[in-house]
Amino acid sequence: MHTIEPIGTIHTPYKEKFAIPRQPNLAPDVITELHLIGEANNEASVRELEQFSHLWLLFLFDQNIEAGWKPTVRPPRLGGNKRVGVFASRSTFRPNAIGMSAVELKSVEIKGGNVVVKLGNVDLVHGTPIIDIKPYIPYSDAIADARAGYAEQSPQTKPVVFRPQALDVLQKSPDSEYRQLALQQILSQDPRPAYKQKQSDNKSYTVQLFDWDVSFEAIEERIEVTTIKPLA
Ligand code: SAM
Repeated sequence: MHTIEPIGTIHTPYKEKFAIPRQPNLAPDVITELHLIGEANNEASVRELEQFSHLWLLFLFDQNIEAGWKPTVRPPRLGGNKRVGVFASRSTFRPNAIGMSAVELKSVEIKGGNVVVKLGNVDLVHGTPIIDIKPYIPYSDAIADARAGYAEQSPQTKPVVFRPQALDVLQKSPDSEYRQLALQQILSQDPRPAYKQKQSDNKSYTVQLFDWDVSFEAIEERIEVTTIKPLA
């Protein structure tokens, strides 16, 4: 039996699973860092990596391992009420709990002797264990005429507006433009459960992003960020 050891840990603004984009490429400007660990944390292991603009990340859905898996799942793309086989889905509840994401490589840096890989387009909760990295190779990996069944279209987005308290906190934060753009891209996905996506529900939701509790409501066809507070 072979034991898999993580080769790194991901550092993202997503402090909980709720509101993380459901695939990479949906919040393209959110920057994350992969910190290599153990024997993989070696400058030699990333030699020439920067030749590639995109990478495959393989990782563990570590927050779901204990919950196990079932042969069928209900993908949010089908409104959360129709079942398909787990292998016909990108569900996080799966045998071996292994996930994969194609992400953008922004830079490879050595900080205090440690390898830090800066990435865009990551759909992972902070602290997710990464088990491998591979270069994305377009001539082989990009298949222009591939069929994607129920996931053919990219998900629809909603406009995001900020109420005065939220805007004030954003504008006072050190990297305000970046954070506002990041919140816009993340929340435009409407993170509420799939069956609610077509309706206002007069309910306030709070999500941990960066070092904040960000509260929002879905009103008609838009998302309103009501307050931004330091993490409780
Ligand atoms: N692109 C990957 C794939 O297809 O294997 C992941 C897709 S999965 C549907 C993306 C969701 O996984 C995110 O929206 C988040 O809710 C969840 N997630 C992210 N990191 C996780 C982790 N470490 N453990 C469990 N769930 C996680």
